[in-house]
Amino acid sequence: MPDSPAQLKVLYMRVSSENQSEEMQLNAAKRYLEQYNPDEVLILCDHGISATKLPLHKRPQLAKLLDLVREDKVDTLLVYQRDRLARDFYEYLTIISELIKHDVNVIFTASNSPQFNKDIVLEGAYAIFAQHEGHLINKRTSDARKQAPHRIFGYNVTKTENGRSYSINEQRGELVKQLFSEAANVETLEEFLSLLTKYKKLMKRKVEDVLKILKQPFYAGYYMTQNEYHRLPHVPAIITLDEYKSANKKLEQLEKQYYELKAKTQDNVFIRPICFICNSEMSLKMNTVGTEGYFLCNRNHELVDISIQQLNRMIDEIVTEALNNLNTNELEKKCISFLTSLKKANDQDKTACLQAIRHIEYKLCTTYNLSKPCNEAQKLLEEIRALESKLNNIVQKEQKINECLREINELVRLIQVMLRENLEDHERRLLAKMMIKNLIVHHDYVTCELFFHEFFKSEVLT
Ligand SMILES: [Zn+2]
Repeated sequence: MPDSPAQLKVLYMRVSSENQSEEMQLNAAKRYLEQYNPDEVLILCDHGISATKLPLHKRPQLAKLLDLVREDKVDTLLVYQRDRLARDFYEYLTIISELIKHDVNVIFTASNSPQFNKDIVLEGAYAIFAQHEGHLINKRTSDARKQAPHRIFGYNVTKTENGRSYSINEQRGELVKQLFSEAANVETLEEFLSLLTKYKKLMKRKVEDVLKILKQPFYAGYYMTQNEYHRLPHVPAIITLDEYKSANKKLEQLEKQYYELKAKTQDNVFIRPICFICNSEMSLKMNTVGTEGYFLCNRNHELVDISIQQLNRMIDEIVTEALNNLNTNELEKKCISFLTSLKKANDQDKTACLQAIRHIEYKLCTTYNLSKPCNEAQKLLEEIRALESKLNNIVQKEQKINECLREINELVRLIQVMLRENLEDHERRLLAKMMIKNLIVHHDYVTCELFFHEFFKSEVLT
């Protein structure tokens, strides 16, 4: 056994009740598990958790896995594919950021899963594609639904003896036709975003639904398997197959960019605000396409919301204001008391060091005849040399502390100017994170509690 405690190889599985996929997930992991020492392998499985609707704490084994990761006890994580880990994109980003932070080697065991990428933006983008793979698989296994959906935007569906029959809903069909024709002419991400927003409103659907419409060849009277189109004779076409194809060609690129933007939104969040009504963390939403996203809370109460942009602007204002109101007297006092305690400890070290040297010198003079070579005496001389070099460091430190104490006024002033004027964006954010204890969002204003409040003049807090 090696000296350091062995890290775990964890296989995590999530098995929904209506699915017998545990064996499949286990089989896929087998060839990896065989390589490991059985003592180091831990298998965690959340059972009977239908769909992916449950919050993290109701998936106890996943929560346990994350605890182990945070304690740096996990070396490798085996999981079938990305959708086993998280219920949505945001949760996935949270989980992978922990995995990346703790340097966990993540292996997706499904044969067609792209490998884990330690760049969080790329991994986030893969996650989106993984979701799409999932959709495709669902569709493939339910061809019937694809050929004869019981409800589809743009058509009136009636049940007949032979299944379902479709007729075009004039108004909605026209919207679909326009959507496809405009999508084929979109060039930039901005245009794509405003297109999605426009049709989201016109169709009274979610953005994801608009995207889904654009991916259905049903509107051209076709369905798709693998890479082949099959004609659906019972479906009156709203668009031509060429129109479908040219819209989808554009979509491929832009959709990827759209999801990258979504991932960046997550990047822009550095403090999670709290709702003033229920006191819980607000949730992050991206529904408003083209904006930076926003936080909202409506847990059994009226809606409380704020855009990320607005929130970040307020955080910026709070930081600037706090720095401008930095209580230099208080800061100076703290610095002096800190330096004084350093000086005291250093003085003690110095006294101890000097005493030790004197003690050895005394021993040398009284016990040994220094004119004759002697191992014992040689050792003591070496000890003195080591102590002298230690003393030298202590004295240097003493000089530095005294220097700081002499120039404390200047130092405090410099800190203040530096903080106020020379901060890069990321430094300012870091500072905000360090300074702000919590941020509570009300309807028209934000309250903020600062750490280290003794350094700030009281008006900042009111
Ligand atoms: Zn709330």
